[in-house]
Formats: sequence, C-alpha cells, structure tokens
Amino acid sequence: MNRIVEHIVCAVLSIAPLCAFAAAEPKMVAPPERKEGEGPYSQLILRNITIIEGTLSPPISPVDIVIEGNRIKSIHLPDAVGSSAYSKDKPALKPGGREIDGTGMYVMPGLIDNHQHIAPQMEYEFKLNLAHGITTIRDPGTTSGLAFMNEIKDKSAKGLITAPKIKAYLRFGYYPDGSFNLPTTEQAAREWIRMAKAAGADGIKDAGFTPTVIKAALDEAKKVGLRSMIHHRQTMVARWNALDSARAGVTQMEHWYGLPEAMFFDRTVEYFPPDFNYQNEQMRFGEGGTLYAQGAKPYSEKWNKVLDEMVQLGFTLDPTMVVYEKFRDYMRARTQEWLEPYAFPSAFEKALVPSKVRHGASQYNWTTKNEADWRRQFELWQQFINEFKNRGGRVTTGSDEAMLFGFSLIRELELLQEAGFAPLEVVRAGTLSGAEALGIDKDTGSVEIGKLADLLIVDQNPLENFKVLYGTGSIKLMDDGSVKRVGGVKYTVKEGVVFDAKKLLADVKTMVDAEKAKTGKKIVQPGFTP
Ligand SMILES: [Zn+2]
Repeated sequence: MNRIVEHIVCAVLSIAPLCAFAAAEPKMVAPPERKEGEGPYSQLILRNITIIEGTLSPPISPVDIVIEGNRIKSIHLPDAVGSSAYSKDKPALKPGGREIDGTGMYVMPGLIDNHQHIAPQMEYEFKLNLAHGITTIRDPGTTSGLAFMNEIKDKSAKGLITAPKIKAYLRFGYYPDGSFNLPTTEQAAREWIRMAKAAGADGIKDAGFTPTVIKAALDEAKKVGLRSMIHHRQTMVARWNALDSARAGVTQMEHWYGLPEAMFFDRTVEYFPPDFNYQNEQMRFGEGGTLYAQGAKPYSEKWNKVLDEMVQLGFTLDPTMVVYEKFRDYMRARTQEWLEPYAFPSAFEKALVPSKVRHGASQYNWTTKNEADWRRQFELWQQFINEFKNRGGRVTTGSDEAMLFGFSLIRELELLQEAGFAPLEVVRAGTLSGAEALGIDKDTGSVEIGKLADLLIVDQNPLENFKVLYGTGSIKLMDDGSVKRVGGVKYTVKEGVVFDAKKLLADVKTMVDAEKAKTGKKIVQPGFTP
C-alpha cells in the first residue's frame, strides 16, 4: 500500500503506535541467511544449571538438561542439595555432542513477545529479540503483507534466518498482498475471515468497528478456528468494550482501552472536554490518562463482577504497559541508556519527538498533570491486572515496541512485578501464558521434557532482578569497590540452536553505528539543535 493511502487508513482507524512508523519507513528488508548460532546438536547437555521451568515451579539446582536435536529429551535432578555429585543418573556426553557448563547459571523458557510489530529492518529487530532471550514473537497486524510474512515465518521455522519464531495475526481488512479494504457488512466480514484462514493467518487482529460486523467476524473466526486479539479503539469502545469481546470469544485484549469502559457505573462514555478532538493526540492520550479513574473503584461490586466474568470466559490480558510508560515519565522514555547505542536516530525521532503527524509522538505540551494522571492510571490498571491473575486469569507479555525491541519486553516483566506479580508469576506470564494464548504451549513456553528447546540462559538470577536480562545488564557495586555490569542474557537457544546473545547485541550496535555514519544523524533530545 502506498504511503498516502496508509496514512489515511491510519488516520481513520487510528491504528496503534506503529502505524505512522510503518507508513514513513521504506519497504521491508528481509533478513540475510543465517550465519549465527550453532546446532542443533545430536546431544546438547546443560550441566549443573539452575532451572526455572516457567510453570510456577520453584527453581531447582543443579540440574542436567539433555537436548537432542530441537527437543528436551530429559531433565536430571540432583539427589542432594547444592551438588550434583551424588546424582545417580548423571547423563554422559555422547560423541558429537556439546556440553555447556551451567554452574552458576539459570535457564528459563525463551520469552514470548505477544505484541511486536515487525518493522522494515528485520535483521536488527530479530537480533535484538534473540539477544534478550525472546524466542517467539507475534506480529499483530502483519500489514506489510501476510504472504511476505509467511515466507519469513517459514524461513525462521526452518532455521534459515536468525530470528525468533513468528506468529502472524492479520489485521482486519488487510489482504495477503498488503492491500486494505475494510469489510463493513456482516457478509463481507465473514468472507474476510475465511480469506484470512485460507491465506494461513495464525489469527486475526481486530474485527471491525461496528458491533454487527465485529460479532459476525468473531462468530466466523470461531467457526474456522482462528484466534483473535483486539485493540479496542476509543472511537468504538462506547459501543463495544472489553467485556463484549470476552463474551464474543476473543482470545486476547491488547493495551488498556475498553476495559474501564466495561466498568463504568455512573456514565456510559469517557469524559471528553467540549473541545476534544480525537485526532489531537496530546488530547487523546492526555485525557486517556484519566480514564481508569472514571471506571468502577477497585474491589467494588462492578469491578469484581467484570473481572470475575472475564476470568470465567477464559479471556487473556496483554497489557503492553511498557509502550505507555512514556506517558507517566516522558523523560525516562527518551533518555533510556540503551537508546544511544542501540536505537536508530530515525526511530527515536519517530517515537519520541513530539509530532502532530506521527502516531504516538503525542507529547505536544506534556505537563506535570498529564504524568500525575498517568501514574494514577497505572496504579488502577495494574491493580486490575494483578487481581485478574490472582483469580485465575491469564496475563501475557507484549511490548508493542517500535524501536527498542527486546529491551522493552524486559521492561514489561519489571512492570508486571511492579503490578504485584511474584517473580515466578512474571516468568510464567512472559513464557507459558504467552504460549497458551498463542496455542503453542504443547511445544514451547516451559522447560519441560518433550518440549522444544526454546531457552534463555543467564549467569545471574533473574528472579532476584529482572534487570539482569537487559542487554546492557544491571549495575552492581562489587566487594572490591568497583562498579560492574552484571548479567545480560548469555545464550538464547531456539529449537536447539545456541545463539551467543551478546554477540547478537554487538551486531545490532554495528548496524546502528553504520546507519549513523551513513546518515550523519544522531539522537538529539527534542527541542535542542544538534
Ligand atoms: Zn500494536
């Protein structure tokens, strides 16, 4: 689709943060043939390692994990605490195999980013993912063209490119060639769903903008067996909110919109000031920051009722808190330490320099009040997310990142802990829960016998501090008085192929350095001249 048409579609549909980003970017650049990673091996043993299963099982150490080809063959527990020396069944390394000494290291399932738009620089994006232990991503929309993405997905599945596994959910109205034609009748909606199924979509994103069309689309999706994710746009939430979606069988809701509307008790629509204009994003996101305070109070009758019904319906929350953090702390967002080494200046500009034409770059005049509102909003939102989890609801991790892939998903883990999740619950949300929502939990999402070897290995304890999973590691004052960076994922294993995570991150920096040299651009804080 050409840029002008895409821009109009974005403007009309107010498509999520990536829309404007995608519209202004050049076309998708397929990643090169895989040069990185070793394996899969006839036998790969992770020796004396601490295992964090992803199932809420507490860690066990030291364990030997035997991987044959792409799957976990056996897991050998110690007979005595703190030593594997006494283990009766220590597996021996067979000729041709590889052994990784996991002493002092931790293994957990590969992470799953349930909301990551695949951007034009795919090699950059995929390497940032694997550098952070992310072994599966879902592309919500696949607006670059499902046919093209199916090829990329297939290459990744065959191990031909350095990339996580990909799930491609087609955005309602898009076609495999990337063209767009929004179905506006029930019949057209049903036809589109059947088309999406036939074209090999793993699921659908959104289902239209009027209740009749949404109902028809979701009904058809159920019939043909397509999973669904919905971003409830503020233009439609008064007519169709998150509870309507849960009742219609939607698998997952994205972001935060549509949830407080399901919990309104003294109004039917968000308070909009008389001069409100939805296309003014300062207004959209500024006013949006007061939304949760307009819904039912936590633990009130209405709040409980909505929460319980959603849990009962098997609904999944994919909050993508990280992409909204810039609204509660704009300075933090634009000065994160990984921006300078790992972000393209053009991407920084698109996401974080205020603009009236770029979606999500909405800080025209971002005030103390805006940030105070958003902090309160986060508290109310996180309270719902945490209680939803406590009562048996599924919560997954998605980043909706346009720039700092990988880093942002680790931040999402931190935000779940901030919401009240225990570290083991955070790990489950980032791994097994995501696999369940995508329908791939038979094969991935936990470190269990028979599953694919999709793993993250790190030499620090992530349950103590999720910051050790950032590519840049975590800061630690050592006993000798020196200040060090510790952690950073060491190895990411995708279906038995072992990637040196730090090497992938170094590749990313090289790409960014080259881009800076070529364009002469660097990251400059908004409003300052270079
Ligand atoms: Zn998105």
